[in-house]
Amino acid sequence: MNYGRVYNFSAGPATMPESVLEEIRDEMMNYQGSGMCVMEMSHRSKVFQQIAQEAEQDLRDLMNIPDNYKVLFIQGGATLQFAMIPMNLMKNGVAAYLETGSWSKKAIAEAKKYGDVHVVASSADRNYSYIPDCSDLPIPENADYVYICENETIHGTTYPTLPNTKGHILVSDQSSMFLSKPCNVSDYGLIYAGVQKNVGPAGMVIAIIREDLIREDVPSYTPIYMSYKTHADNDSMYNTPNCWAIYCCGKVFKYLKKIGGLEEMHRRNVEKAQVMYDFLDSSKLFKGTVEKEFRSLMNIPFVTGSKEMDAKVVEATKAAGYDNLKGHKSVGGLRASIYNAMPKEGVEALVAFLKDFEAKNG
Ligand SMILES: *Cc1c(COP(=O)(O)O)cnc(C)c1O
Repeated sequence: MNYGRVYNFSAGPATMPESVLEEIRDEMMNYQGSGMCVMEMSHRSKVFQQIAQEAEQDLRDLMNIPDNYKVLFIQGGATLQFAMIPMNLMKNGVAAYLETGSWSKKAIAEAKKYGDVHVVASSADRNYSYIPDCSDLPIPENADYVYICENETIHGTTYPTLPNTKGHILVSDQSSMFLSKPCNVSDYGLIYAGVQKNVGPAGMVIAIIREDLIREDVPSYTPIYMSYKTHADNDSMYNTPNCWAIYCCGKVFKYLKKIGGLEEMHRRNVEKAQVMYDFLDSSKLFKGTVEKEFRSLMNIPFVTGSKEMDAKVVEATKAAGYDNLKGHKSVGGLRASIYNAMPKEGVEALVAFLKDFEAKNG
């Protein structure tokens, strides 16, 4: 059906699968015979308990999450995790962080309030356009964890391989790449993702945490809400959770299972990103800003080299139905976020438009 929707290249909140939005629409007034909308339901009701349990189980199936990991639905966005992680995981008060862009920088600034933060690698020297060599990092022996932002949403970089943590647990912000490819959960101590990039509506984080890292003895100043134990002990229902986000994310998990899981999603994402990168590599007007080895499948920043021309392209694309392509101010130019829900046709149409623009303006 034609709803007059645009191709939405927003970095987040971002585009969602159309079939999921249609299902949500169809259930809006009366969720499966319950006589009410999910928005209106008690989070303690049987109907909602089932929605939440199925969402967790479907996510566990998709990611093959081992039994010794808890899946937590927490509010406060990915940003709250920047504080929650050091509060809960810094037993020795020491952690190693990799600085690869805006989001890891923010996490570092927050963690410094709670302990001794060692920035063991940084790509600041070339405006975060690459991922540093992570094979032999100077990680302090007593570090409680090693922290990465696995896909830097603003700078458009991703890790080709995970860092050598030298036996320390790995904590990863997967917000802008969550469920974009298969993930070996046992490589990590904690994975978390704000869901509004690649899964559902804003206002919720999914944290997947190894059970032995959930502590009783968090610092006494830790708000009850910010202890992982609070959420783990109460099946993410210590207080009223973001019911709507859990419901919508659950729909997306079912959608991903139906299309063939994360292998199939990854295959599609690689194919889609290739269309964009092939174009950028052959264009004379546009150029990707990230070194090839470290290019994200999800966020693709690119520039023309002229601010005026960049602005002209943004305006022309918007007028033609390709929305939210303006790059973040720290990189400039343009950025196409092509998350799971962006169809290949959307990327192909954008590339055709940019080719045409180049022919007329190059
Ligand atoms: C968007 C984003 C965040 C912040 O998410 P909020 O939910 O707005 O707090 C953190 N990390 C990454 C990688 C992001 O893309």
